[in-house]
Amino acid sequence: MMRLPWFRYESPRSIADAARMLAAEGPNAALIAGGTDLLPNMKRRQQAPQVLISLRRVEAMKRIANGHALTLGAALTLTEVVEAGVVRERYRGLWQAASQVATEHLRNMGTLGGNLCLDTRCNYYDQNHEWRKAIGFCMKKDGQMCWVATASKRCVAVSATDCAPALIALGARVRLACGDGERELPLADLYRNDGIDYLTRQRDEILTDVVLPDARSWKSSYWKLRRRGSFDFPVLGVAAAVKAEGDGPIEEARIALGAVSSHPFLTRAGEFLAGKRLTDDVIAEAGRIVASRAKPMDNTDFDVYWRKQVVAEFVAYALKEIRGDDMGAVRLRIARRAL
Ligand SMILES: Cc1cc2nc3c(=O)[nH]c(=O)nc-3n(C[C@H](O)[C@H](O)[C@H](O)COP(=O)(O)OP(=O)(O)OC[C@H]3O[C@@H](n4cnc5c(N)ncnc54)[C@H](O)[C@@H]3O)c2cc1C
Ligand code: SF4
Repeated sequence: MMRLPWFRYESPRSIADAARMLAAEGPNAALIAGGTDLLPNMKRRQQAPQVLISLRRVEAMKRIANGHALTLGAALTLTEVVEAGVVRERYRGLWQAASQVATEHLRNMGTLGGNLCLDTRCNYYDQNHEWRKAIGFCMKKDGQMCWVATASKRCVAVSATDCAPALIALGARVRLACGDGERELPLADLYRNDGIDYLTRQRDEILTDVVLPDARSWKSSYWKLRRRGSFDFPVLGVAAAVKAEGDGPIEEARIALGAVSSHPFLTRAGEFLAGKRLTDDVIAEAGRIVASRAKPMDNTDFDVYWRKQVVAEFVAYALKEIRGDDMGAVRLRIARRAL
């Protein structure tokens, strides 16, 4: 049995108190929300903070404010996000992403903020301490080299958050607070393509809110590839959002990718789609554009070449669903892994 290392637990009730504690404790401290990512990492000694500052009692981070824009507190559990009618009706891609994270139990504990700040993953890193010690560790923790890309100076561990690509496609921004004030930035800018230093968040900053723009005239969709349809992390996440008035041409579009790089990112397919209609040919070309940007590495589940091959297909599923095609049978096939 893997045991947690000793740590001190703080439970502030306000963002200001949490920010003050985080700044005062310095690099010894980490934020904990649901703990579904951090605590297993601590058991594996991938992270060993001496102080955990919990966000569970910070009520200000659990709000849902619904006007033209939608503000979601970062401490909302994924279950609360999934159960919010406004998310299900207006931000379908986010609803689909959040409801496919892990399992029901983990979604009851795991939060939106924790999902966006999730550690990157790799077959050589997500192992217990003894396993990692036996191979001489790796660059991400305690070692010098990368076992996946041996000549690489950069860790290429994979970003495996489901909600981030969905939110990036929806044009989300995030708010970060620290003792000196707060700032807001596009969610895509929270990420860096680096398996170790994967967030641009400063050590003393807390992700407090996710702000989604008005979604009227937008439709969105999220498609996830994983081994077990009821459980696993994504090895590919395709998120699309398209704005069009009725049957008119596309005014604006975004397609974001997750789990094929150390960061979730926006592709250029949105520019290609603007002004067009979602015909089969247009969808196929958008798929090719997106697939050309996917560079999966051989450090997670499934054959790496096959993962690259199916990107265009998943883009087609997302865009066809947005077009109004009935994709229920395909979703079921994927959930049962009968591709
Ligand atoms: C078996 C299993 C399967 C999983 N499957 C999936 C999956 O399919 N898809 C997926 O996306 N995830 C998956 N997860 C990961 C995890 O459960 C979710 O991503 C969850 O949403 C993480 O949220 P949390 O609140 O538990 O994060 P925590 O574990 O509390 O925190 C995660 C990280 O984020 C930081 N953090 C948390 N909140 C904030 C904040 N507000 N501001 C700044 N930093 C913060 C923490 O310091 C920590 O570094 C899985 C986990 C397990 C154990
Ligand atoms: S990509 Fe390389 S450095 Fe990063 S976790 Fe995997 S083996 Fe370690």
